Amino acid sequence: SSEFQGKHVTVAGLGVSGVPAAKVLHARGAIVTVVNDGDDARAREQAAELEALGITVRLGDGATLPEGTELIVTAPGWKPDKPLFLAAEKAGVPVWGDVELAWRLRGPDAAPWLAVTGTNGKTTTVQMLASILKAAGLRTAAVGNIGVSLLDAVLGEEEHDVLAVELSSYQLHWAPSLRAHSAVVLNLAPDHLDWHGSMEAYAADKGRIFEGNRVACVYNVADKLTEDLVREADVEEGCRAIGFTLGTPGPSQLGVVDGILVDRAFVENRHKNAQELAEVGDVNPPAPHNIANALAAAALARAFGVPATAVRDGLRAFRPDAHRIAHVADLDQVAYVDDSKATNTHAAEASLAAYESIVWIAGGLAKGAAFDELVAKSAKRLRGVVLIGADRALIRDALARHAPQVPVVDLERTDTGAMLQAVTEAKRLAQPGDTVLLAPACASMDMFTNYNQRGDAFAEAVRELGA
Ligand code: ADP
Repeated sequence: SSEFQGKHVTVAGLGVSGVPAAKVLHARGAIVTVVNDGDDARAREQAAELEALGITVRLGDGATLPEGTELIVTAPGWKPDKPLFLAAEKAGVPVWGDVELAWRLRGPDAAPWLAVTGTNGKTTTVQMLASILKAAGLRTAAVGNIGVSLLDAVLGEEEHDVLAVELSSYQLHWAPSLRAHSAVVLNLAPDHLDWHGSMEAYAADKGRIFEGNRVACVYNVADKLTEDLVREADVEEGCRAIGFTLGTPGPSQLGVVDGILVDRAFVENRHKNAQELAEVGDVNPPAPHNIANALAAAALARAFGVPATAVRDGLRAFRPDAHRIAHVADLDQVAYVDDSKATNTHAAEASLAAYESIVWIAGGLAKGAAFDELVAKSAKRLRGVVLIGADRALIRDALARHAPQVPVVDLERTDTGAMLQAVTEAKRLAQPGDTVLLAPACASMDMFTNYNQRGDAFAEAVRELGA
């Protein structure tokens, strides 16, 4: 019988993680109650499905702790200061997230996890990692926050040798016993601070990814905060700290020398003190931040014992997801690039650093961000700026402070048709050799359903202008 037999488990939140969690717990003999804040049509549909199995669902009441609860399994996004969790803490009831549940339910011979977190670059890095592992002939999948449920991956039919796992700071917060084979924190910039409460709490949750690592803790040499997290982590004996850098690597580091990605940490050939992995041109696209992602993925793969040739083959086979520095078209010797996924200033800074002369399309929902640093750092690359969206005044003011010479077009309208006008204005500002870059540094929901729709609108506008 399972450890859940007869146990009173409360599942907090329906949806992509809650529904499968409730089902698997019920199947293992738990007495499951699902609590959900919302009470809309979608929630009712999911509730009906669970109730048909004999699971209790309370719609419109996610605050009250059901009588007798012995364990809560929560959707990762639920904020730790919710009354439900305060009540649980008082009653000594443990709280697990979907990742913790998957970790506990995996079998004794389960595939080890290579785990990736960071403020930006997570999805790209796990996809590169999976591509490298596949090139090495390993059975693997990119799972987790990327949109593939860890529960499905762990309990599904498919067999894996190793999993490439993307973890958000929320998921890490609720995953106290997770122990990865190896892990990386790519970078750390303020994001989601309203959820975590402070930068310290956010960093601490990200740092959880290193706890108990067996083989390697990978950090970004250029981002001291990530190295601090490695130093503070409690790891297994023999676990190594491995750095990655865009410069010449030190002894326990991966880096770049003369356009070649090299590994000085996991050297295969004893007669050399560095191993050549791939050329910068093997990385898609070869922008600096993306080389960093490739090095991080390579570090994890190498920690798992993958040979250098598989790193090269895997990177060559990798294609980025849509809306991540995607080249849309060239019109009149101007490149049009869609980085709609740059939804915060840290991401936008990385994509602006990848081009020399830019007409920048920016704006949307700022989520409380400040734009001074981003604008100051990027000012000399800006040919012009077109601002869209609700919080564009914040960017306009930062431009006035740090880049007063740069022409700015401030679009008042926020209807979806505004993108065509924005691209038209950008085309007018651009000169041959320039890049028109959609890297909004903001969320999209003021004008669009999500960043995908925003990127699609951009690409459509570019096609229209080119026709
Ligand atoms: P995440 O899954 O963490 O959101 P993605 O791989 O989807 O990250 O990339 C999101 C955006 O972040 C990209 O479009 C790009 O603008 C930016 N980005 C990607 N990698 C990095 C990096 N290493 N450092 C800074 N920004 C990055």
